[in-house]
Amino acid sequence: MVHLHPTLDLSTEEQMELGKYAIDQICHYLEHTDEVNVSPELNPTEIVQYAEQIDFHNPVTPKEAVHYIVEGLRRYQVHTAHPGYYGLFNPRPNFMGIVADAITAAFNPQLAVWSHAPLAVEIENYVLREFAVRFGYPRETSNGTFTTGGAEANLTAVLTALCDHFPEYTTKGLASLDKPPVMYASSESHHSLVKAARACGLGTDSIRSIRSNASLQMDAEALALQIQQDREAGFAPFLIVATAGTTGAGAIDPIADIAELAEQEKIWLHVDAAYGGAMILAPELGNWLQGINRADSITFDAHKWLSVPMGAGMYFTRHPHILQQTFRMTADYMPKEGTELESFDPYTHSIQWSRRFIGLKLYMSLATAGWEGYRLLVRRQIERGNFLRQELERSGWSIMNDTIMPVVCFNDQAALANHDLDFVRFIHEKVLATGKAWISIFTIQDTPALRACITNFDTTEQHMIELIHLLNAARQEYMTKIPSYNGMIY
Ligand SMILES: *Cc1c(COP(=O)(O)O)cnc(C)c1O
Repeated sequence: MVHLHPTLDLSTEEQMELGKYAIDQICHYLEHTDEVNVSPELNPTEIVQYAEQIDFHNPVTPKEAVHYIVEGLRRYQVHTAHPGYYGLFNPRPNFMGIVADAITAAFNPQLAVWSHAPLAVEIENYVLREFAVRFGYPRETSNGTFTTGGAEANLTAVLTALCDHFPEYTTKGLASLDKPPVMYASSESHHSLVKAARACGLGTDSIRSIRSNASLQMDAEALALQIQQDREAGFAPFLIVATAGTTGAGAIDPIADIAELAEQEKIWLHVDAAYGGAMILAPELGNWLQGINRADSITFDAHKWLSVPMGAGMYFTRHPHILQQTFRMTADYMPKEGTELESFDPYTHSIQWSRRFIGLKLYMSLATAGWEGYRLLVRRQIERGNFLRQELERSGWSIMNDTIMPVVCFNDQAALANHDLDFVRFIHEKVLATGKAWISIFTIQDTPALRACITNFDTTEQHMIELIHLLNAARQEYMTKIPSYNGMIY
């Protein structure tokens, strides 16, 4: 008789002990995140060695494995949970989300068919409906699906727009279309669209990159002109993607104007609100996403501003049948129980098949923090963004972007006046090398800028003041070193 290896079937006692050990390590990490270097030194040889140190011919104990991976991740990753991480929308995960992910893994509900995981499916539907209503969609006829992230949600948008505009696409494919389909997005839009265009067989030439104005918002007039030119040249415009909160600078395209045009032109409008969609949770700050309810579909990521662990994307549509039209087929081997019910099987509504209970981490976070908790989170992050802008300006930095969101792009006045392209790279490297903060570089209309985004609910004013000290010190070092600044002192 062949015996199962004991670690593949731990006893309850062993599970409890290992679980407690793992939770201790996790909580220790979360409590002391600010003591580790935000970003590691990138020594590939050392890192590969660390990964390959474990020899699968000589297994370690479960505790050793947990300790080894916790220590490794502590050393070798950018810590998005660190209060000095001013990064690319990746959050410090809230603990309810972490617990929800563990419960999801343990119960492992199969979200392909309703009858296998009816509560899980209905929890996701409930969360999707609640968000859809907040985006201004009708409760009864809106529809949606959880996705791995914004990239999958955007791919879903391209597919649904294709199926809506060219019904023959679902069976006969692109080859059956008499005009080449084209889509529109601003020069600031997310590059997941490029992948989506490739995945759908459209190719990247099908994307018309529309000029942005000085505030980095899509120029609606340039959009209208391009659509007209494309029609005259024999193309078939089928999709406009507006961005609500661009990845680089947090710009919001003029959604209402674009919606007007999309309606006139009978083109599907998708709003990519992967990050900025969170603004709907604090409506008292203003109707910044005005017109989003007129979009045919929307992308929103809970694993950004809403601080749940990755990945938790969402795709919403106000067309109740389009997901089915795009993804439905019947497979003989899929369970059929409950098919006479009104509910649907998620596999007929999305790109994924067997899939994780993605929605639980958002459901449990909302269940405990409530809308009010999230409203305060959004407000606080925005206030902190304002604080950062104000303090940067007080230290002589120029703000280069224009947004309500806590995404701040900045540069030094003297460096700008000198057209100094090395300055930003120098500051960026210096700040990262301290291990105390992580910022990025984003180029705005050919001028590189430093970019800091408040993505962590634990980032306080004190942390931001520390960041500004690091920036000022690096600037001083640069200006003392480079003769053209004449040892400029702020
Ligand atoms: C992050 C982001 C995406 C991609 O989302 P993922 O969750 O990383 O797949 C798409 N669009 C915008 C505007 C984003 O900020």
